[in-house]
Amino acid sequence: MTSFPAGQFPSYRPRRLRQSASLRRLVSETRLSPSQLVLPLFVRPGRRLRRPIAAMPGVCQLSPDELVREARRAQEAGVPAVLLFGIPERKDERASGAYAAKGIVQQAVRLLKKELPALLVITDVCLCEYMSHGHCGIVQRTASGTRILNDPSLKLLARTAASHAAAGADLVAPSDMMDGRVRAIREELDQGGFAEVPIMSYAAKFASAFYGPFREAAESAPKFGDRRSYQMDAANACEALREVALDIQEGADIVMVKPALAYLDILYRVKAQFGYPTAAYAVSAEYSMVKAAGANGWIDERAVTLESLLAMRRAGADILITYAATEVARWLKEK
Ligand SMILES: [Zn+2]
Repeated sequence: MTSFPAGQFPSYRPRRLRQSASLRRLVSETRLSPSQLVLPLFVRPGRRLRRPIAAMPGVCQLSPDELVREARRAQEAGVPAVLLFGIPERKDERASGAYAAKGIVQQAVRLLKKELPALLVITDVCLCEYMSHGHCGIVQRTASGTRILNDPSLKLLARTAASHAAAGADLVAPSDMMDGRVRAIREELDQGGFAEVPIMSYAAKFASAFYGPFREAAESAPKFGDRRSYQMDAANACEALREVALDIQEGADIVMVKPALAYLDILYRVKAQFGYPTAAYAVSAEYSMVKAAGANGWIDERAVTLESLLAMRRAGADILITYAATEVARWLKEK
C-alpha cells in the first residue's frame, strides 16, 4: 500500500498527527504485541540445571524441570510459544539423538505439553546438535575432502520431525536448509497421522556471522568446514525468494527469514510476494550486541530492542522469534 500526501505545505502538515502520544498511537501503522512472540529455549539432560551462555546474558541451557519454569514465566508474561533446541548426552554420525523416542527434545515436549498445555511448543528440526561433526546433514568423507549429503539426510530429518510430532509438538520447524526437506517432512508427518501439524520452515536461512553465540548455546559448531554449502549466501535476495517459493510448494505453512535485522529487505520481499505467515528470527548476535551495548550504558537496551522488533514487523514479519521474548512481553504490558 502506498500513501502520499493529499496536499502540500502549508495545508498539509505531517507534524499535526505527532503532537501527543495518544494521537501518535491512533495513527500508528505497526504494532508490537506479546501474541507475536516466540521464545527459543535450550534443553539438556539433568535436573535443576541452568547453565548460562556467556555471550548471551540471561539465556541458559536448561534441564527439563528448569525449562518448564522458564516456559511458564514466558507464558505468564503473555508469550504464546516456545521454540525448542536440544543438547543431547551423546552425539554420533547418524544424529540418532535427534529422532530417539526418548531424546531430550521429545522428553521436553511431553513435559511441556503436560505442565503447560496451552503453550505452543515448536521444535527446531535439525541434525547438527546431534551429529558428532556438527553439520546439519550426513557427511561423506572423500579423498578430496568432505561433502554434506542431501537426499540421505532427508530421511533423518523427516524421522526427527515425526518423532517430535509423536511427542506432542504443535509445530515443527526445519532449519537444516537441505533441498526437499519440507516435502520429505510433510509426507512423513501425513503418513504418521500428523496431517494437522504445521511446518514452519526456516525458508531463507543465511550463512551468517550473526549466529556466533548460538553455537555455544546449542553446542553445534561444525568440527570442520562451514555451512556455506547449504545455508544461503548473504549476497542473494532473488535466491531467497526461490527458496521460499520452493518451501511453500513443498507444504510449508509458515516461512521464516533468518537472521532478521540485517535481512529486512528479504523479509519485506517475502511478505510482499507470497503473503504467507512470515516469521523473523532475531538471532543470537542480534541479542548479544544489544545486551552488551546496553550493559555498557551505550544504548537504551529496552528502546533499541523494541525498535528493532517493530522494524521487523514493519518489514512484514507476523511472528518474532527472539531471546528477549519474555522481557519484551513484560515491557509491552507496562507500556
Ligand atoms: Zn543445523
